[in-house]
Order: sequence, then structure tokens, then C-alpha cells
Amino acid sequence: MSVTWLVSFFTSFCLMEWAAWALHKYVMHGPLWSLHEDHHVIKKNSVYQKNDYFAIFFAVPSFLAILFGNLGFIPWLEAAGYGVMLYGAVYFAVHEVAIHRRWNIFNLKGKYIESLRLAHQHHHQVRSKEGAKNFGMLLPPLIYFTKSKKELKKMRPSKVS
Ligand SMILES: [Zn+2]
Ligand SMILES: [Zn+2]
Repeated sequence: MSVTWLVSFFTSFCLMEWAAWALHKYVMHGPLWSLHEDHHVIKKNSVYQKNDYFAIFFAVPSFLAILFGNLGFIPWLEAAGYGVMLYGAVYFAVHEVAIHRRWNIFNLKGKYIESLRLAHQHHHQVRSKEGAKNFGMLLPPLIYFTKSKKELKKMRPSKVS
């Protein structure tokens, strides 16, 4: 595993937080709100959401980068594909499992995950296309790390969907 491979892997992982933020803010809460809406207004008893299609949005380029990087012997491209894949796996673990509890596979605890949970709960306080905040996932605004637990609790919305 070369330095180039590791740099490409971690760079793509970090850039994915930005890409996910931009997609969420400008596309999901923009022209493709019709696919994201059922994640904000969740129907009971439905296991899957139209919103899940967005996973493919990143899975396809990740797969192609790994495939062509491997076949064409372009290590940095393959590494970038794995970086996107790791981000997708972390996003799934944090967003679908730890925050929304869609599947009871495991739970994550700790100050960091609590900050992410609260930031994302505040994102879900808005059930419409406009007016939401905290579009990122792994890097919420600093306020979620600097405020005391008591202050954060006060900010906690009564119900999250
Ligand atoms: Zn949203
Ligand atoms: Zn959510």
C-alpha cells in the first residue's frame, strides 16, 4: 500500500462529506426533493424509502472507480473508489442505524455520535423542502461540540421522524 494510495483513499473519504453535504443541500432539498421527501415525512410500516435511491448515486461511481482502477492498474483511482465506499458504509452505520434506528443491528454511543444525532434531529425538525439546516453528516457545525450537554438537551426536539 503506497503513500499515494493512502492519500487518495483518505482524500476521497473526506471529500465525500462535502459531496454528501452539497447533494443534500442543493439536490435533495432542491430539484430531487420528490425522492428525499419520504425521508422527512416518513410513512410508518414502510421498510424502504424513495430516498434510498441516493445510495446508488455514490455506489455506482465507487464501483466503477474500483473496477477500472483495478483493471487498468490505476491504484489511486481504485483507492478513491474504496474511500467513497468506506464513506457510504460509515454514513449507513451512522445515519440509518445509529440515528434513525431503521435496523436494530447495533448501536453507537459517545459524545461524538450524540452530537451527530442531535444535529441531524435538528435537520429533521423541518418536514419541507425549505428551511432545513445541518445538511452534512459527520461534521456538524461546531456548536454541537462546544455547547454543554444541558444546553444541547434543551435544543433537543421532542420527536424525531
Ligand atoms: Zn434532508
Ligand atoms: Zn435522516
